[in-house]
Amino acid sequence: MIQVGLTAGHHATDPGAVNDPLQENLLNLQVLGAAMTFLAGNDIYVVSPTGKLSRKIQELNRHNLRCAVEIHFNSAGSASPQGVESIYHPGSVHGRVLANFLFDRLIELPMGLVPRRVVDTNHLGRRLAFTRDVMAPAVIIEPLWISNPQEKAVAMSQDNLKIIGETIAEAMLEFLQF
Ligand SMILES: [Zn+2]
Repeated sequence: MIQVGLTAGHHATDPGAVNDPLQENLLNLQVLGAAMTFLAGNDIYVVSPTGKLSRKIQELNRHNLRCAVEIHFNSAGSASPQGVESIYHPGSVHGRVLANFLFDRLIELPMGLVPRRVVDTNHLGRRLAFTRDVMAPAVIIEPLWISNPQEKAVAMSQDNLKIIGETIAEAMLEFLQF
């Protein structure tokens, strides 16, 4: 059976971005649930460890994964940043392909997620352990910014979160067939 890694960013004691009433770790978990259901329905085995990032990475690397994705939501001090950000490790050819599939599928959704960038962590200016230390092609996907009023409204809808999760799963399937 084909195995993929799929995790929700953050956890209860490190909730990530917050913009009342939205809390990033809870959004991540909702999207994760929808994506896992979709992948399981397509006979894909999903490895989805929880807890601290270092523990999650260790557990993912115990499996022979074809790819791995971690779900996050973006936030900034200013309300203006918006759009899908898909992040991969510099020099990872397959990471970039996966990042592009995720980006392309999300920006074509009718809910109106706008394109921001497909970017490696060097250009992003952040060192991210998930994309660096997971051995399989690994991407961090940030579908929208909860600090942006329009995108916050998108994230307030349970239906939208489900669709985002299913779309992430579809993009992963596309990568598996690539
Ligand atoms: Zn995050």
